[in-house]
Amino acid sequence: MGTLKKKLEARTTDFDHWASRRRYGADGPNNLRLWVLACMDERLPIDEALGIHVDTPVGGGDAHCFRNAGGIVTDDAIRSAMLTCNFFGTKEIVIVQHTQCGMLSANAADLEQAFRDKGIDTDNLNLDPTLPEQKLEKGAFAKWIGMMDDVDETCIKTVDTFKNHPLIPDDVIVSGWIWEVETRRLRPPTQDQEKRARTDTTAKQFGVSKQPPRWA
Ligand SMILES: [Zn+2]
Repeated sequence: MGTLKKKLEARTTDFDHWASRRRYGADGPNNLRLWVLACMDERLPIDEALGIHVDTPVGGGDAHCFRNAGGIVTDDAIRSAMLTCNFFGTKEIVIVQHTQCGMLSANAADLEQAFRDKGIDTDNLNLDPTLPEQKLEKGAFAKWIGMMDDVDETCIKTVDTFKNHPLIPDDVIVSGWIWEVETRRLRPPTQDQEKRARTDTTAKQFGVSKQPPRWA
């Protein structure tokens, strides 16, 4: 049986490594070598949904987690995944989107119009003032908002986009999941209507017409 001295030495060494992980590059990965992309919705509890500890201190850092409206592909999602998968030792990407998503609840064209009504020229915006080189083409603002027609379809396409992106290494495992807000249950994305029963998964269910297409 080891002495307490030895255990404490190991514990303090482990802690030092944990605290300075980012100095070790790919040799200082998070606990599960995992990057999570998820919707920002307050009804999507990442820890509960995935059975991991992302944002509670008890886990000590299971994953890097990126949340945005929808849990969709954006340039910043790609940027973050690129960093963690290439330089911080991450080997797996898990994408979580959810039923009842706010990104189903309105048409992006109407949202754009709301800004235009306020006198904002959505064709000439400096989206990121720290990176004025990054520009949207004229007419792309509504598409940029990224509202969805169908969350299951979006989730499947999001997985494919990360799998096929040149900045994400080929050996990174990518999977996508749907959190059912109504049932507090995780399931794979599907087009089987029976499996989607009793949940709101499409913009149509919100009375919203077809979105400006994000995937051409
Ligand atoms: Zn959402």
